[in-house]
Amino acid sequence: MIIDCHGHYTTSPRQHETWRAEQIAADNEGRAAPPRPAITDDEIRATIVNGQLKVQQERGTDLTIFSPRAAGMGHHLGDASTSEAWATACNELIHRVCTLFPRNFIGVCMLPQSARVSPRNCVAELERCVQQYGFVGCNLNPDPSGGFWQDPPLGDKYWYPLYEKMVELDVPAMIHVSQACNPAFHTTGSHYLNGDTAAFMQCLTSDLFKNFPTLKFIIPHGGGAVPYHWGRFRGIAQDMKLPPLTEHLLRNVFFDTCVYHLPGQELLAKVIPIENILFASEMIGAVRGIDPETGHHYDDTKRYIEQLPISAADKAKVYEGNARQVYRRLSAQIAKQFG
Ligand SMILES: [Zn+2]
Repeated sequence: MIIDCHGHYTTSPRQHETWRAEQIAADNEGRAAPPRPAITDDEIRATIVNGQLKVQQERGTDLTIFSPRAAGMGHHLGDASTSEAWATACNELIHRVCTLFPRNFIGVCMLPQSARVSPRNCVAELERCVQQYGFVGCNLNPDPSGGFWQDPPLGDKYWYPLYEKMVELDVPAMIHVSQACNPAFHTTGSHYLNGDTAAFMQCLTSDLFKNFPTLKFIIPHGGGAVPYHWGRFRGIAQDMKLPPLTEHLLRNVFFDTCVYHLPGQELLAKVIPIENILFASEMIGAVRGIDPETGHHYDDTKRYIEQLPISAADKAKVYEGNARQVYRRLSAQIAKQFG
């Protein structure tokens, strides 16, 4: 089975996004948000059949771990109550997709985060999504302020109430920022990769995984700058008298393969142990064009994995085995959804 651990509902029905704009406008004007729009199963089906499902079939992948649109999370907009209403709406929609297409999508939730609001606020929604919807993880935004980094680093006790619940439920988090509202950063071109790199360094300089030995993070987009600068990170850890990164971080931190060219994938597979790499494409996401050098979509990452000089057994780990290890509830959920 080929499991793509990183997909967002970027093609969600128009009225869903329209409602979000209305909700934020109402919040800005001190009015109550309008009621949520009706969305039929057929409308959801159409967005998937002509979107993510079509791409899955064209590229020969089987299952996508699916979450709300990342840039759309917008944790910097509104306040804790608008974030809660929006997260609820987005997660419900993901659940409906997974119910309509149980063999193709398994859910991951967004969290109702807001800058400078305790992550304790996210615990109930995480629990609801895992227990009622069968979701297997969450997306955790290390910077809910959207590019101004107003919250403490991920190693801080500030985040511990959420980690305690993740450990209890045995679900990992993909560390994933949302839209940048700081004009210095391009959302997908710099803010995302900065978020990935910063999150790794925040873990490195903390004793987070000593305190939570079973906590697991997936750092997307190939880990941002991390594999390329692995020597720098190793050297900093060494200077700080920390254990080797394999012990200090790699039992808990994993990287996905959302890297959109072969040399980048080769580097990732060379530097990071195979056990720490999970297949992903983030299809219909940040980069939607065709690479004129290859004639294929940049985000058709399976083509790069196929060309890597690694064994079939290692490819199977990247495609499936590692995802089943990191998302501890995944195998049971696959069994349930596949009937
Ligand atoms: Zn993403």
